[in-house]
Amino acid sequence: VIDELEFLCCFCKAEIGADKDSLHFDPCGLIIIARWAKPQPMQREQQFWCHFECFRKMLNDDPHLYIMDDPDSAGSDAEDENETKH
Ligand SMILES: [Zn+2]
Repeated sequence: VIDELEFLCCFCKAEIGADKDSLHFDPCGLIIIARWAKPQPMQREQQFWCHFECFRKMLNDDPHLYIMDDPDSAGSDAEDENETKH
């Protein structure tokens, strides 16, 4: 059962979820894909856990962090993106 798992943040090393200040995004799974530009059989990937807030801090609050956007207010831009996906 997923609730019984202990998620440790790969940035601050603290347990995720114990903190009442955690955003509703937590726990976040962070997947790193090595050799991303190579064909998939040559890629390697590993998953980490983290607080969303720790990840956001690491990116210096990058404005491209569109994961925070409200999907309901995305408008027609989101649909355009889907069409150009490959
Ligand atoms: Zn953290």
